[in-house]
Amino acid sequence: MIQSVVIIGAGISGLTAGCALRKYGFKVDIFERSDSISEFGAGMTLSRNATFLLKNLDLYDDLEKNSYRPKGSFIRSYSTGKDIAYVDFIKDFIAADRRDVVKIFSERFVDMGGHLHLSQEIERVNQDTGEVFLSAGEDRTADLVLACDGIKSSIRENIFDKTEPRFTNCIAWRGVVDKSQFPQFSGNDQVNIYHGPGGHVVHYPIGHEGKISFVAIENRESWEEESWKKEGDKKELLDGFQNWNTKIQEMFGAAEKVYKWGVFDREVPQDIFNEKVVLLGDAAHPMVPFLGQGGCIAIEDAFTLAFLTNKLKDDLGRIKDLYQSLRRSRGSFIQKSSNFQGKINHLSNPLLMSLRNLAVKLFIKPSLGHFHSYDALEEISKVIKS
Ligand SMILES: Cc1cc2nc3c(=O)[nH]c(=O)nc-3n(C[C@H](O)[C@H](O)[C@H](O)COP(=O)(O)OP(=O)(O)OC[C@H]3O[C@@H](n4cnc5c(N)ncnc54)[C@H](O)[C@@H]3O)c2cc1C
Repeated sequence: MIQSVVIIGAGISGLTAGCALRKYGFKVDIFERSDSISEFGAGMTLSRNATFLLKNLDLYDDLEKNSYRPKGSFIRSYSTGKDIAYVDFIKDFIAADRRDVVKIFSERFVDMGGHLHLSQEIERVNQDTGEVFLSAGEDRTADLVLACDGIKSSIRENIFDKTEPRFTNCIAWRGVVDKSQFPQFSGNDQVNIYHGPGGHVVHYPIGHEGKISFVAIENRESWEEESWKKEGDKKELLDGFQNWNTKIQEMFGAAEKVYKWGVFDREVPQDIFNEKVVLLGDAAHPMVPFLGQGGCIAIEDAFTLAFLTNKLKDDLGRIKDLYQSLRRSRGSFIQKSSNFQGKINHLSNPLLMSLRNLAVKLFIKPSLGHFHSYDALEEISKVIKS
């Protein structure tokens, strides 16, 4: 019988899983190696496939109050900025400041009686016994251990597979601009995406303080930096996008600071559940961020695992089989689709770019609808009945 759960990592997957499991009354301890719950000050969009689960977990209202709600997305020409297509989002699409997401989720977890341990690194887990070994402090034992420790998951490496994260030949630039300094044009208060040759750019308002967040993705041969993220040089960013329209250039110029990331992914392992240890979020299926789905899929994972654990708490074998079959296929599918989206977004051949723009006009609505309308609750009920 499952009663106690240890979660490794207080990112989006760990915190959502913590809240969901507390909702069902499990004893939950989250161990986070950092000394605070922090996120980078940048935007993140959450689509309906995630937000309707957050509603179910009573996490949505506070987040919505602190977020921006774009109605839809413009796809624009990288060179002129002219719109190529527009799509309305199905409801409950929000654009949040990441710092608000983790703050709201962590406060709610603690309010619900969850135990959050900061500056506590998990070194190793015994998958057969559920023993969790900390780098400092008293070791623990739990009925179930959730590895929510991100793309570089050491738990995954010790228990599941040895594949390494892989550089995807893309780098991501991020910055935040005050609305007052943002270039003015119709539609700048919605999600805007520019598909270019060799890269793409996305910007949207976030949070409640009149800020706009941008992400600019650029093809690169290699990532030589030691860290996966560092403060970048604005000139380097502007040089990389010098043939793009002036509004994009002005937006980059208005950012106080810009940061750059190497974009990595990692194959989905054959198993994502082994005895008492289960992988969630980026630990299971890290993906390139070109569909804005990594965090949404982490929320789906967390919800699905908590729901199954509550329904089937006496039957770890069945929880394992159902979680594995539901989440491995969904994570792999979105991971592959995100890779494909990157290829489409970055086409450089003018003829192929024209064909892409036509395809975007015709298919953007059904394509986004397909990703955003996934209903984790319905999928769970289908497999539970069978
Ligand atoms: C440029 C960019 C833009 C993106 N945009 C979006 C978007 O708009 N929408 C969206 O849904 N997704 C987006 N994503 C993806 C999303 O950010 C990730 O998928 C999501 O943050 C993964 O959450 P996680 O909890 O699985 O992992 P992480 O956020 O990586 O959290 C892992 C946590 O575990 C902790 N940890 C690691 N090892 C240990 C240990 N041994 N002991 C204790 N603690 C440990 C870490 O300190 C960290 O806090 C984007 C990603 C990028 C790079």
